[in-house]
Amino acid sequence: MKAAVVTAFGRPLHIEERPVPVAGPGQLIVRMQASGLCHTDIHAARGDWPVKPVPPFVPGHEGVGDVEAIGAGVSAEWLGKRVAIPWLAAACGHCRYCLTGWETLCERQLNSGYSVDGAFAEFAAAYARGVVEVPAGVSSLDAAPLTCAGVTTYKAIKVARVRPAERVAVFGIGGLGHLAVQYARIVGGLVTAVDIEPAKLELARQLGADHLVDARATDPVAEIHAIGGADVAVVLAATGKPFEQALQSLSRGGRLVCVGLPAGGVIPVPIFDTVLGGRSIIGSIVGTRQDLAEVFTLHAAGRTRVITQTRKLDDVNACFEEVLAGLVPARLVFEF
Ligand code: NAD
Ligand code: ZN
Ligand code: ZN
Repeated sequence: MKAAVVTAFGRPLHIEERPVPVAGPGQLIVRMQASGLCHTDIHAARGDWPVKPVPPFVPGHEGVGDVEAIGAGVSAEWLGKRVAIPWLAAACGHCRYCLTGWETLCERQLNSGYSVDGAFAEFAAAYARGVVEVPAGVSSLDAAPLTCAGVTTYKAIKVARVRPAERVAVFGIGGLGHLAVQYARIVGGLVTAVDIEPAKLELARQLGADHLVDARATDPVAEIHAIGGADVAVVLAATGKPFEQALQSLSRGGRLVCVGLPAGGVIPVPIFDTVLGGRSIIGSIVGTRQDLAEVFTLHAAGRTRVITQTRKLDDVNACFEEVLAGLVPARLVFEF
């Protein structure tokens, strides 16, 4: 089978012929139909974060395809099902986090395309206890971005506890941001979209954003305060500056939700303003299998639109450049 492999940090990925993986205990083998390119895959391939994957590894955690084989201990009911392989490849299932609906915080979790080989390949081995079935009303092309970009921003809006008529500023209208705009609207938020690329702001407008702020042309802090400040600011950019701007954009009682993971990112937090303004800073990491099932349900019901362009896995390195240059309308998806 064909796979895109990170052989060393910061080097182009290798397209390799590899044997189709064999299902170990608890695993199933998925024949990939669609596999999204998340900015996290770029961070992984560059070794951007303090906890690093070990090359060689196969990135990809927005994989969707059919189950072709199962390993020991896996129910035969899985065979032929269409499933999504998310970032959370598997959690332990019995720690205090797993038992209280916070499997995303499990300290013994495995991560697709990071600590275990992921979905940038024609086949992937996944854990039956980690995958989520894709309902018939969701195409594989749409399901792929929903599997990380969708579930992550859906969860971010949930943890922010957005109430109807609250002002939600979304910083970064990329793969994640184009879905965040929609989930913020679904719960009744008034959405301000912030990006540095006019084409991304135009997409946000088409997806229902109420206000647009071009952070390259104007100061987003002043623009957002001019309309009353943000009750919630969700930061989905892969650079540090928008985090500081988002914090400064909050009104009193505001919540900053950090989702983007820029290399070496640090936010200066003024204690006085945070205390007197009753502001919160929240970190949000992907979502649970249940969150993903809800994301699929909303999409099947016609509540969200997924904007994609398809590519071939052979072009993975050019695709990384496209994402980094800010040229991608929302999400690139490898089709198999
Ligand atoms: P993306 O490249 O598709 O989108 C990033 C967007 O930010 C682009 O539209 C870009 O134009 C915009 N941007 C860049 N600089 C900006 C600025 N100064 N102000 C406003 N917008 C700016 O990336 P993505 O796939 O959506 O991922 C975004 C980030 O989220 C990455 O760091 C990724 O690793 C992280 N991520 C986190 C989680 C999580 O669970 N916390 C899950 C998935 C991805
Ligand atoms: Zn991702
Ligand atoms: Zn656990």
